Amino acid sequence: MEKLAVHGGPRAVAPGTLKPWPPTDDVDRRMALESLEGTNHALGPNCKAFQDEFAAWNGNKFALTTNSGTAALHMGVAACGCGVGDEVIVPAYSWSSSATCVLHHNCIPVFVDIDFGTMNMDLAKLEAAITPRTKAVIVVHLHGLPVDMERVMDIANRHGLKVIEDACQAHGAKFRGRKTGTWGHCAAFSFNQNKCLSAGEGGMFVTDNEELLSKASRLWSFGEAKTPMESRDYHAYDLGWMYRNDDLGAAYGRAQLTKLDGYIAIQRRNAARLTELLQGTPHLILPTEFDGAEHNWYNYVLRLDMESMGRAGDLGFRDKILAAMRAEGVPPVRWQQFILPAMTVFQAKNGYGKGCPWACPHAAPVDYSLGQFPMAQKHCDTHFSVAGPLRAPHGPEATEAVANGIRKVMENLDQIWGAKGIPCH
Ligand SMILES: *Cc1c(COP(=O)(O)O)cnc(C)c1O
Repeated sequence: MEKLAVHGGPRAVAPGTLKPWPPTDDVDRRMALESLEGTNHALGPNCKAFQDEFAAWNGNKFALTTNSGTAALHMGVAACGCGVGDEVIVPAYSWSSSATCVLHHNCIPVFVDIDFGTMNMDLAKLEAAITPRTKAVIVVHLHGLPVDMERVMDIANRHGLKVIEDACQAHGAKFRGRKTGTWGHCAAFSFNQNKCLSAGEGGMFVTDNEELLSKASRLWSFGEAKTPMESRDYHAYDLGWMYRNDDLGAAYGRAQLTKLDGYIAIQRRNAARLTELLQGTPHLILPTEFDGAEHNWYNYVLRLDMESMGRAGDLGFRDKILAAMRAEGVPPVRWQQFILPAMTVFQAKNGYGKGCPWACPHAAPVDYSLGQFPMAQKHCDTHFSVAGPLRAPHGPEATEAVANGIRKVMENLDQIWGAKGIPCH
């Protein structure tokens, strides 16, 4: 029996094995410096070039750089013509802004439970959530696993709905050989530091539809009808926000984009190796790709099979397992620890105050009772992930060390079983 590091045994992952994300090199330094030495630091030439290069890379006709993925999502809601009281369907488990972007346009989010296997929206439950007020669906390719977009588009087309892809985690992920962000009416990407393409912060709105582009661009820049790259009349035609980004961030994003295909290839290789090494680990549920899906492995998400341990619902024991992994040097990450409808903004309906937008006379009542989302809750209670170790610049050694650490803990649960005093963090 190997002694766990939490009890003073040797660590599975040696200190210094794991490197920060993203790697930067001379390409990043040169492009950032060129931007600094230029004269246009706001929406400058790098922004225009970043849009064009990202659109070409992803296979979209149009792209607009934004200061966040959330801004691009809000622009999608506006571009799709969603308005006061309209309902927009979103998965019950995602990043908060997959749903709050709906509130920003005075629309009402309606949640659909996830499928436990894919961790994405359960498409078998999507149709039942559609009402005469439903205007759009936001599908999230969570963790970089694409949603079955043929099925989504079929349902949406039959009901006359718009589809917004939240591809904030899904750069380069493909369904039936076609990239995410090219299936729906429009899509949002994020370039926050943690994402597969980092620009520090930032995002991109993409679409193939000129009318949607035009609506999105009004929201993007003060409600104006012209972009700052054209001759402006400085007139607010619509309610607009300020969602543009800056030249320096775009320069950094462009530099990282030249390396993105290489990054994704590394993630796929390391994830395949991790799956190979974790196969057969007791009480551990491994992530999978389904037929037609090509994961980018933004996040490699595992679930603890608490039932097979005889510890269903024992969150304290879950935390002890994760603490033991942390002691091994694994870094298990507990991403999103609440399902979306459980978040206070939805439970208390405290959007814009005085019940707005839910109490608006144009809205119909919606039910956020939590019993409707058992799979999202089960996922939420049992998941942990490893993302950093699978990314560049890590080679197979980091993956192997992390796999050893996870296996070591899971194969020696009896050392944690009755153990007292193991810190949770
Ligand atoms: C990161 C993320 C967002 C928001 O992107 P920001 O750039 O942080 O605003 C939205 N949806 C998902 C699924 C994300 O992971």
